[in-house]
Amino acid sequence: MNIEILGCSGGIGKNLKTTTFLINESLLLDAGTGVELLTLEQMTAIRQVLITHAHLDHIVGLPLMLATIYDAHRQPIDLYALPEVIDALQQHIFNWTLWPDYTVLPEEQPIVRLHKISVGDRLALDEINVTVLPSEHPTPTCGYLLADNHSSFAFSGDTGCNDALWPILNRLQPQLLIIDVSFTNELDELAKLSGHLTPAQLAEQLSRLEYDCEILITHLKPGFEEAIMQQCQPLLVSHNARRLLHNERISL
Ligand SMILES: [Zn+2]
Ligand SMILES: [Zn+2]
Repeated sequence: MNIEILGCSGGIGKNLKTTTFLINESLLLDAGTGVELLTLEQMTAIRQVLITHAHLDHIVGLPLMLATIYDAHRQPIDLYALPEVIDALQQHIFNWTLWPDYTVLPEEQPIVRLHKISVGDRLALDEINVTVLPSEHPTPTCGYLLADNHSSFAFSGDTGCNDALWPILNRLQPQLLIIDVSFTNELDELAKLSGHLTPAQLAEQLSRLEYDCEILITHLKPGFEEAIMQQCQPLLVSHNARRLLHNERISL
């Protein structure tokens, strides 16, 4: 499996894009501002989109991408998300006020088909099997575990302390986990309120992991990246952990 990291920041700014991962060139995992790094050809090659939740930093690229490829697309894109996320997209984005309703355009074959999924569901998308994972965030959110015959990885989605996640990871044993650490330890209360992790909370959560798994840290708040990673270092010495980087390509 090939994972292209188009965006992995908790905010925007020069050289920073929000959560957007491209898998095997045809599956988009979240559609943040990283979508703007794709060429027109790359956008038209996308067949499926998995959305973790409706927060803008994870979906803002989607309506813009659909408008961009509207004339070029040849077959509908299948989008998967929790029911509350689908409802939010329909009510607040594709409502003819913020953006045209691309779920009904063009009339003969809409450009996007919305599919409601639930935590625990398993989806077969071409050669990739997807398991929908639980997340802890102030708005309905999920993570995803993607697996093919040779490799697998999990993405936590935006999440705070998430006790339901670890037994599932221990059972399915993805070789890589991409997980949210947005704030430094000093902002513990803000992290809890906003449903993100600090380095100390991540270390506590990782004590539940019962096998060797590479850990990549994502969604760091702009300006706090170095402080977060400095705090992570001593806490994570027993783990194979590092920061996820913009523009990196991961081959599993
Ligand atoms: Zn969020
Ligand atoms: Zn986010």
